[in-house]
Amino acid sequence: MAHEADRAAGRVDTTRAHSARVYDYILGGKDHYQVDIDAGRAMCAEWPALPVHMRANRAFMQRAARHLARAEGIRQFLDIGTGLPTSPNLHEVVQAERPDAGVVYVDNDPIVLAHAEALLTSAPEGRTAYVDADLRDPGAIIGSAGFRSVLDPGEPVGLMVIGMLHFILPPEDHVLLRRLLDPLPPGSFLAATIGTADFAPQEVGRVAREYERRRMPMKLRTRAEAESFFDGLDLVPPGLCQVHHWRPEPGEPVCDDRDIAMYGALARKR
Ligand code: SAH
Repeated sequence: MAHEADRAAGRVDTTRAHSARVYDYILGGKDHYQVDIDAGRAMCAEWPALPVHMRANRAFMQRAARHLARAEGIRQFLDIGTGLPTSPNLHEVVQAERPDAGVVYVDNDPIVLAHAEALLTSAPEGRTAYVDADLRDPGAIIGSAGFRSVLDPGEPVGLMVIGMLHFILPPEDHVLLRRLLDPLPPGSFLAATIGTADFAPQEVGRVAREYERRRMPMKLRTRAEAESFFDGLDLVPPGLCQVHHWRPEPGEPVCDDRDIAMYGALARKR
């Protein structure tokens, strides 16, 4: 469980479950409180596949980032809704390909901020920064010292929005994403995962209600709704699919489609 020092660190509300800490609990981390354990257990009781689903989401992030660094020549990344440090973190994945890669991490959760030093362990050739900001304020992200010190505005960026769009409700979801993507130069990429109830409607619907009961409202999306986030961008093959079907690598666990409630895609900005 998380330490007292974290509570002292500021705005951490330990009386309510929080998405980053529930996710940390389910992924087997240690930075969460009893309320998050209770929430995670209630959710897993509704849908025992939840840990499999969350691990598959995390694995998509790693494959998409590796692809960008290795095959698309991307060496700077903007990660929105980073979550608590979970190794390998994004900079570890991309700096294994290119040690000079730069990563800007963004999250609005104070407990993620309290643990941000584990995200700032850049290779000496590269750079990382942490920005304590909300996706709802894209100007604060783009104007931040961390963004400006790590990212070269003239060079393409890999924008990673992984496992968080279900917390951004319409109608602001598309607008906010565009406000982040618009300033990035052509040749930048968007990698996103998007929660869906298409494959296990009842179970996933019950998990969503567990989140909502804890004041974490959620929007699950159909395939068409998920795909619309990539309108005007060029999808990298195989296009939008459940995350475990996106360029799986040898040795990865084989998942049942009903256990994965997340679409994922990677697309290039023209
Ligand atoms: N991207 C990571 C973590 C996903 S958990 C992964 O996929 O492994 C979702 C994260 O999004 C949490 O850490 C939560 O604090 C963050 N988040 C949710 N809403 C946000 C917002 N409006 N702005 C910034 N971060 C947000």
